[in-house]
Amino acid sequence: MTFSNLGLSPSLLATISDKGYTSPTPVQAKAIPTILKGRDVVAVAQTGTGKTAAFVLPIIQRLEEQRLNAQSNRGKRISALILVPTRELAKQVQSSVVAYAKKTSLTSMAMYGGTDIDEQKSQLIEGIDVLVATPGRLIDMLNQRAVYLDSVQTVVLDEADRMLDMGFSDDIYRIIDRLPQRRQSLLFTATMSKYVQSLSDELSHYDVNGAVHEVRIEPKTKTAKNIEQWLITVDKDTKSALLSHLIIASQWSQALIFVEKKHAAAKLVAQLAKRGIDADSIHGDRSQAQREQVLERFKRGQLKYLVATGVAARGIDIGQLERVVNYDLPFKAEDYIHRIGRTGRAGQSGEAISFVTLADFKNLIKLEGRLNHLIERRVIEGFEPRKPVPETVLNYVPKQKR
Ligand code: AMP
Repeated sequence: MTFSNLGLSPSLLATISDKGYTSPTPVQAKAIPTILKGRDVVAVAQTGTGKTAAFVLPIIQRLEEQRLNAQSNRGKRISALILVPTRELAKQVQSSVVAYAKKTSLTSMAMYGGTDIDEQKSQLIEGIDVLVATPGRLIDMLNQRAVYLDSVQTVVLDEADRMLDMGFSDDIYRIIDRLPQRRQSLLFTATMSKYVQSLSDELSHYDVNGAVHEVRIEPKTKTAKNIEQWLITVDKDTKSALLSHLIIASQWSQALIFVEKKHAAAKLVAQLAKRGIDADSIHGDRSQAQREQVLERFKRGQLKYLVATGVAARGIDIGQLERVVNYDLPFKAEDYIHRIGRTGRAGQSGEAISFVTLADFKNLIKLEGRLNHLIERRVIEGFEPRKPVPETVLNYVPKQKR
């Protein structure tokens, strides 16, 4: 499969080839031709599958075709709206729009909270074609009548499951209400739940057979295959020593390390520092500027070890990440999938290591049930847990939830 089979214009094909992409990823191959036809799409695809280009490329092509068509020379009004859960993702998606639209006259902006609202308003007045926004800030702008969505032709909900998890449900439904009835709707989600399904029902149009075009890239519980996943059973109080040992003994070049709570992030950075390991953290107590600065250093490779809470790390794109560590095992399968999706992107290989304490075991068994996959267990010499996992825990059968 090549990009030229998908119906993309020669100018976009040139941009893609400049980016160095040789062939489309599965979600791109499936979604691009359908989106180009103007149909609605629901795609179940994780981060790292190339999903951003799967919606950005056809949106740009359709808008540019209209632009070249004299009739739609009506000044710049928002023609495409992309809703994303976090500011990091807003910036990242908008930079993809800029990159893919570089040979066109289309303009875009990222709108998110924590930044100067007046500056964003003046950018809007100048007129933009593609708006990438987080739901909260967009609602503020709508309430202040600083933005109108009546010219939107295509709406994208990116990481819809995340947006719902983060409590944006009401905002999203309110935003949908402000959109024109006649529109193209695209929903991307890493996992499908009944809540995502209801949202999709609300959003999408149906063809004569009563179906939206559904693009499913991976079954909902499968994690990407090119990621080697394993876990280490360890006691809670030896976790930081184990992490230092792995970093030093295995000469890790870089790692993204997830912790559950923000105070744990700062503590771990201090514990690593004591062992001569230079790490930094992103979490809710750090300012946006600090988070951005740390992330930039990590992306450039100047910072080798980044400790992050799940919330702070949502939506960040760190390119070719080799390794993710669940220093604390997440509770939900969705979080596990999202976290390990930061590595092994777009066909590269990656490694995801989880630290599991005795207290985590029941959760682990539940998680594996949801993933339909057993994670390989390893014990590291010198860090063996003091007590074995009791039989009762090993034989634990979680209640079926859905
Ligand atoms: P996404 O799933 O949109 O976050 O994309 C994951 C990563 O894959 C990004 O860094 C993209 O630049 C990269 N990518 C997207 N499409 C392709 C492609 N067809 N070939 C190689 N890399 C790609």
